[in-house]
Amino acid sequence: MTGRRLGWGLIGASTIASDYMVAAIRADSSSYVVGVASASEPRARAFAQEHDIGRWHGSVESLLDDDEVEAVYVSTRNDRHREATLAAARAGKAVLCEKPIALSLADAREMVAACEAAGVLLAVNHHFRNTVLHRRVRGCIQAGLVGQPLAIRIFHPVVLPDHLRTWRLADRAGGGAILDLTVHDADLVLFLTGAEPEQALAVALHQGTSHEGVEDGVVAVVRTADGPVVVLHDTFSVLYAPSAIEVHGSTGSLLGQDVMNEDRTGQLWLMRRGAKEELTLDPWENPYELAVTRFREALTGNGAPAATAEEGVRALAVALAVRASAREGREVAIQ
Ligand code: NDP
Repeated sequence: MTGRRLGWGLIGASTIASDYMVAAIRADSSSYVVGVASASEPRARAFAQEHDIGRWHGSVESLLDDDEVEAVYVSTRNDRHREATLAAARAGKAVLCEKPIALSLADAREMVAACEAAGVLLAVNHHFRNTVLHRRVRGCIQAGLVGQPLAIRIFHPVVLPDHLRTWRLADRAGGGAILDLTVHDADLVLFLTGAEPEQALAVALHQGTSHEGVEDGVVAVVRTADGPVVVLHDTFSVLYAPSAIEVHGSTGSLLGQDVMNEDRTGQLWLMRRGAKEELTLDPWENPYELAVTRFREALTGNGAPAATAEEGVRALAVALAVRASAREGREVAIQ
């Protein structure tokens, strides 16, 4: 970061950039949006005009040629994260990459190595780490309020609007519920407990939302080393139920409802010795704004990004093992 404010380039004229990240960058008084790149120049222009962004580009390379761009936010389709990140590393730009970091562990490690070699920061936008409720859950676990964690269950339903029923529901571009949702859960469990995931056993679901051969849901069991067993249910097909998290420990349980979303705080209860108490949570904070701030601060040597590249790789490893288990019908070791 050379100037007073960090200049961001957007790689991908995406919904997440449009709905959340442009505003999140602008909410950080030490950041600003320089330009946007898309594979389609007209789409880049339309995006720029809609969001009052001064420069637009029909290629990633053109955006990266802009000296005012010091960091990029990569939110292209999942199958394009690798090439965008490698190009940014070559150009000496820091990268905040969307999840999943890549489609394979080899690609993810190549991205990490390229950014390290170029001396640029790489982080992954696992935003659930930043929500008020999950930070509170983590605090409760660390304070010993539930004793030794024995089991964690996450229910993560997402209802896709029509305009997002595209590549996400087709395998070609790294779609499917596992790379979209399970990867988030995996990172969240890592954040909450630090437990090392070891084995995955999963069943993929095909309940009518996705294309032939692509899962629109999954139920997975993940075993961790000396930590809780984790049960995940991720789905695009459950339309009317709130998301949930349960943390069951040796002396108590935490029950959270409406927790896997970015726009509301959700509710959290602590159950111990026969009593159920609703915990008061801090007011809602925007998890994407925290991601931008932590990333920008890390660039100036102040702390770490909310989710590091290495954490993004670990979450991907869990998701890929879940997918392999579902495809092969056996328990799979997590690499
Ligand atoms: P979108 O489908 O909205 O955008 C992905 C890409 O699709 C865009 O970058 C753009 O390509 C292309 N695209 C967008 N709209 C059109 C269109 N109308 N016609 C043709 N192409 C189009 O996906 P999302 O924004 O939902 O997801 C983008 C990334 O962000 C994914 O990696 C996803 O996993 C991640 N994500 C993360 C979230 C989080 O909370 N951390 C939440 C949601 C998504 P181009 O690059 O060429 O502009």
